[in-house]
Amino acid sequence: NTLRLPSIRSKIGEVKILSADDIKADLQKCGLAGSPTRVVETKENTSGRRKCEFISFDRLDEVIKNSLNKTKQKIQITHTEKKISKVLCVTKAPIEYAKTVSDNIAFCDNNDVDAVIGAIKNENPDAVLFGSDSISKRVSALIAAKLDLGLCADCTALQTDGETLYMIRPALSGSVIAKIKSLTKPAMATVRTNKNSSDIVVSAGYGAKNCLESIKAFADRYGAQLGASRKAVDNDILPYELQVGLTGKTVSPSVYIAIGISGAVHHIVGMDKAGTVIAINPDKGAPIFDYADYGIIENFHNISGGKK
Ligand SMILES: Cc1cc2nc3c(=O)[nH]c(=O)nc-3n(C[C@H](O)[C@H](O)[C@H](O)COP(=O)(O)OP(=O)(O)OC[C@H]3O[C@@H](n4cnc5c(N)ncnc54)[C@H](O)[C@@H]3O)c2cc1C
Repeated sequence: NTLRLPSIRSKIGEVKILSADDIKADLQKCGLAGSPTRVVETKENTSGRRKCEFISFDRLDEVIKNSLNKTKQKIQITHTEKKISKVLCVTKAPIEYAKTVSDNIAFCDNNDVDAVIGAIKNENPDAVLFGSDSISKRVSALIAAKLDLGLCADCTALQTDGETLYMIRPALSGSVIAKIKSLTKPAMATVRTNKNSSDIVVSAGYGAKNCLESIKAFADRYGAQLGASRKAVDNDILPYELQVGLTGKTVSPSVYIAIGISGAVHHIVGMDKAGTVIAINPDKGAPIFDYADYGIIENFHNISGGKK
């Protein structure tokens, strides 16, 4: 079986419905009864909402320059007073998260299934943390299945009362934040790590489909890294590696410039930790402006002088 990304363009064939009896499933292992994790609490996800100041395009240089001088927001660090005894980090990727809940951190530098299982047996940790790259997601799921452990994916923060690890993650397409605990030990989680090294990310959405070349030139001018919305990726405008959001990567540059992006919550969860957010969109009612510090109500095609 080759892993493939789900696509909104996929053709839906005939869906065959099988019952639990058809596949001889043990009902004790299905649904909530079989889940090794529990949602402890949920609350509305208001993260990322900002007050937008609308500006003209000619103020953009000045706004970017001032924003680069501000300190950018890093991943949510909620250092709890009480700590759990030991955390095993698979690679160094999740270390910043591990430090928030434990003073005793062990590492397994090899993210091969057997190597990690060996490290879990040797170290006997309270929690095992993985990064959010595709290998870590795959390896963590295989280990959870092999060791019958709960796994909470895509966490954005961790908390503890000294005994239980609480894993915080966006749920229901990012509209709520859920606090989850594992009923099995060690608790296992993949945590969202930032992927960009650039200070500025310029992301193109579906609205920018006809001016991609001028967006690339615009990004080059600021030494910015390119990003994309899923709709731009699904329509082959930009490659998946650039996708920002729930099913893409998380970025937290000093400045995030969204061009032709409407601001779906699935996109916002991938960039809401950026220092300053600037949105360029001709539709003043686009939700992206609720998550932007500065808004430019323009068709990018006009700004770029009609260049593609
Ligand atoms: C389970 C799930 C996971 C998802 N994961 C992700 C994810 O990881 N990342 C992600 O991005 N989305 C994700 N999505 C999709 C998401 O819901 C939106 O459909 C998507 O983000 C919309 O992309 P868009 O903003 O580029 O396109 P649209 O919503 O079509 O918006 C285009 C915008 O461009 C503006 N525009 C038009 N012309 C111009 C112009 N010339 N100049 C400037 N602006 C212009 C329009 O006013 C409009 O606001 C996911 C959806 C689901 C269901």
